[in-house]
Amino acid sequence: MSALDTIVVGGGVVGLSIAYGLAKAGERVRLLDEGDGAFRAARGNFGLVWVQGKGAGKPTYALWSMAAAKLWSGFARELEEIAGLGLQLSQPGGLTLCLDESELDRRSVMMAQLAADVAASGETYPYDILRANAVRELCPHVGPDVVGASFCPLDGHVSPLRLLRALTAALLVLGGELRTGRHVDAIEYRDAKFRIHAGGTTHVAAKLVLAAGLGNAGLAPMVGLNAPVKPIRGQVLISERVAPFLDLPTGSVRQTGDGGVQIGESKEDVGFDDGTTIAELSRIAERAVRMFPVLAGVNIVRTWGALRVMTPDGYPIYQASAECPGAFVVTCHSGVTLAAQHADPLARWIMGDAEPAVLADFKAERFHV
Ligand SMILES: Cc1cc2nc3c(=O)[nH]c(=O)nc-3n(C[C@H](O)[C@H](O)[C@H](O)COP(=O)(O)OP(=O)(O)OC[C@H]3O[C@@H](n4cnc5c(N)ncnc54)[C@H](O)[C@@H]3O)c2cc1C
Repeated sequence: MSALDTIVVGGGVVGLSIAYGLAKAGERVRLLDEGDGAFRAARGNFGLVWVQGKGAGKPTYALWSMAAAKLWSGFARELEEIAGLGLQLSQPGGLTLCLDESELDRRSVMMAQLAADVAASGETYPYDILRANAVRELCPHVGPDVVGASFCPLDGHVSPLRLLRALTAALLVLGGELRTGRHVDAIEYRDAKFRIHAGGTTHVAAKLVLAAGLGNAGLAPMVGLNAPVKPIRGQVLISERVAPFLDLPTGSVRQTGDGGVQIGESKEDVGFDDGTTIAELSRIAERAVRMFPVLAGVNIVRTWGALRVMTPDGYPIYQASAECPGAFVVTCHSGVTLAAQHADPLARWIMGDAEPAVLADFKAERFHV
């Protein structure tokens, strides 16, 4: 058996995107994943490819997200072809709906500042603030409580589960290996090789990518890295299938390619509790009905809670280890949006290309006091 180039730990959307990118570029890759017992944000997310509002106060993150969104359609086409599976990607632009004037004012100020910060680095941040009539032209079903919205033409959505299936299938087609049910519990670095111990098995490679979501907090220090991530819960509702009524996604309500409506927008600091609460689900549903009164008569068929992977400032960590050369940690809270970046420029950095300039802003040292 030929030697592996890289082991990726974590089979969420981040680890799979990187492993797929490495395999596509010709590396021999093995991905180790703990399996269904682990916290897995990628199995419970909202499926948005989303730019608007991202990077307020950190324009490099806005630039990174914009570049990701621009890569998405090409990334999807290629992935669909290799995997033989459609992703239900639609990128018609997206809306963040506001239900009163103060919400719209705050949104307008934030977006204007973001656009000004991005303009200072020579790029245009595409967005509009729309009043209710203009929103209604795009979305005839919005309710009378909607006073306006921000719109970004780069935004869109995708089936998050199809994305995972396609990345997995493509990785295997490209000769990558997948080992599930492997909880990595120890990592040794010796003679320029990583020995990764996972449930009684040992895996050896010259490079290691830690993409284990919340698991990165415990794994990163084993190779001289730091990933201070913590869980932030989001609760999500799915409705029965309904006739098409919403052509473009909003930040909290989207109609999926299968016809169901996905609703969710909570951000709760409740530790590792990934359950649901009636109070929060009711709040989310009530707001969604104010946005789209047509939802009042629709049945909810499923709800869940899932834990976001959050750093202290909410921005990613992309870091190579100085202590154990060849080890990398990657963690972020928008793994769907950034999948196209992770599969290409990031994978190429891991393979030895120059580091993309914006990544200088995403080192864990920013959290050190
Ligand atoms: C409610 C919700 C909504 C979201 N909506 C969006 C959205 O609309 N758009 C967007 O871009 N992002 C969204 N996200 C975020 C997106 O899902 C995350 O960025 C992404 O899932 C994080 O991916 P990950 O692969 O790093 O982590 P995870 O998906 O959590 O995967 C980590 C993997 O690592 C494995 N693992 C952990 N520890 C170990 C170990 N020791 N050994 C082996 N394997 C291990 C686990 O088995 C798991 O499969 C949302 C998240 C949530 C929770």
